[in-house]
Amino acid sequence: MEDYKKTTDEIYECVVNQRKVWTETGLPKFAPNRGTCYKCGRNIYQNYELTNHNSKYISHGYDGKTLVTGCPHCHYSFCS
Ligand SMILES: [Zn+2]
Repeated sequence: MEDYKKTTDEIYECVVNQRKVWTETGLPKFAPNRGTCYKCGRNIYQNYELTNHNSKYISHGYDGKTLVTGCPHCHYSFCS
């Protein structure tokens, strides 16, 4: 596995963090339950190597410690 990738355990930790935010703030649960983006199918807590105009970059997932309102990879909004 590539070294920028989070492990399954680390992803789970992010999911738990996000659930804690929901419990503590009472804000709407925008993020998909298991973190899979409805649009691009990537996990919002995972890091991905993406390509933009022929240059590669790492698209970082969230740590779940703040309220997630959209996908960090394709920028799809979960609010609407
Ligand atoms: Zn997405």
